[in-house]
Amino acid sequence: MSETAPNGESRLLIDGDLVDASDGGRFDNVNPATEEVIGQTSDATAADMDRAIDSARRAFDDTSWSTDRAFRQRCLRQLHEAIVGEQELLRAELVAEVGCPVMTTYLAQLDAPLAEGLLWPAEYIDSFEWERDLPDNQNFGVPSWQKVVKEPMGVVGAIIPWNYPFEITIGKLGQALATGNTMIIKPAPDTPWNATRIGRLIAEQTDIPAGVVNVVASSDHLVGEQLVTDPRVDLISFTGSSTTGRRIMAAGAPTLKRLFLELGGKSADIILDDGDLETKMAFFGFMCMHASQGCAMLTRTLVHESRYAEAVEMAKVAMEGVTYGDPTDPGNIMGPLINATQRERVLGYVETGVAEGARLVTGGGRPAHLDKGWFVEPTLFADVDNSMRIAQEEIFGPVLVLIPFRDDDDAVRIANDSEYGLSGAVSSASEERAMGVARRIRAGTVSVNGGIYYHAASPFGGYKGSGVGRQNGREGFEQHLETKTIAGGQ
Ligand code: NAD
Repeated sequence: MSETAPNGESRLLIDGDLVDASDGGRFDNVNPATEEVIGQTSDATAADMDRAIDSARRAFDDTSWSTDRAFRQRCLRQLHEAIVGEQELLRAELVAEVGCPVMTTYLAQLDAPLAEGLLWPAEYIDSFEWERDLPDNQNFGVPSWQKVVKEPMGVVGAIIPWNYPFEITIGKLGQALATGNTMIIKPAPDTPWNATRIGRLIAEQTDIPAGVVNVVASSDHLVGEQLVTDPRVDLISFTGSSTTGRRIMAAGAPTLKRLFLELGGKSADIILDDGDLETKMAFFGFMCMHASQGCAMLTRTLVHESRYAEAVEMAKVAMEGVTYGDPTDPGNIMGPLINATQRERVLGYVETGVAEGARLVTGGGRPAHLDKGWFVEPTLFADVDNSMRIAQEEIFGPVLVLIPFRDDDDAVRIANDSEYGLSGAVSSASEERAMGVARRIRAGTVSVNGGIYYHAASPFGGYKGSGVGRQNGREGFEQHLETKTIAGGQ
């Protein structure tokens, strides 16, 4: 069991120093399960962000960070060790500020990204092809050699959401630093402490030079937007909603910002007529893990019409069996939503679904037995048409929809009839058949018969409205690099 929630780090990391906001401002950190204020965080001003950008720029332009790979490798390993040293404190802190069930911290909230997120890119420094020679040529009659070299982008603005904040921060840190960039990390206002803790560890326990990483928390989204509009920032690495992603793309246009956008999803879980419905449905409740506040959650379940009625009954049992409530209880897989606004938004979607004519099978309200915290009951809709808003829009809460399909082509058509394209899943007794469907799904990750794609080496990201670019893996690494061709006369 985790330790009790510690007092969080309130200070920002700017230019190597742990500092308060320049005007002394602070904002509250609230536990979404208890609605209690658990502490405060320095509330960065525009001037603080300006200083952080200046510091990251100087660290990139004026130090050997961008070229000294061995040093970067050592620093990443140091940071990994420093975080491992506070892993249990961090676990309790994540449960307190994110409201995530502690069991998720043994998976993607903490232990899995901590195991690989910094070390994989650090190792990859050794095997990555930083330079390659092209065959000599005689263009325009001039004998020349050519070399292609990979160089860091420069200053990266990393903007983080609240749902898996540590995982996303670590993923961005590992890749941006291994490739030689400097950074400003801007955590979400709801979940700043895991990032400010990393800031303190960087300052106190690593040799990472001043300015290479800055951590700037603010309650004002526009302080984050400075990263997007400032010409001294080269790349925006953003994870969050598609709405904010669009705004960032527009705001970045005047400075032709390089963009890496990890956005929302409405991913389809396709159970073909020969799929193992019983096993799938036994795990159906897991879609409520962390109240379904995950971009790649499989929130549309597509079942062959011959087994649809049976599937609705099994899904009802599974949803009603979801254990939820106090996130510190290791038996719970679902905690609260992050804040009151999100809860109201999710409850609004339940009303929308009913008004659209979908059948509310179970859930749909606030749980009677929990008088504190921003909880919503595990909710299931059946008889859903894919054109309904509850099938098209990302709800980001424990609201799942079951949609029938006629045949494999119909399943693929429904899965792809979405503005999103983040993830998906296919189940079939025939792997070949499932693979055939998986190849036709327009999404960045697809699980076949329960396969797990999650790993620091696995590229993760979206097609269509789910984003631009990839986190993790070789593709994520290269995204932090510019390409230069140097030609020499002979
Ligand atoms: P959000 O878009 O509201 O906020 C994300 C971050 O952007 C926060 O740090 C916020 O302060 C900042 N921000 C908001 N407006 C900004 C602006 N104009 N300029 C710059 N920064 C701005 O998202 P959220 O509600 O925190 O997170 C939930 C969303 O994130 C969901 O849509 C989810 O699907 C998505 N998400 C995607 C992935 C992925 O990898 N594809 C992973 C996790 C979450």
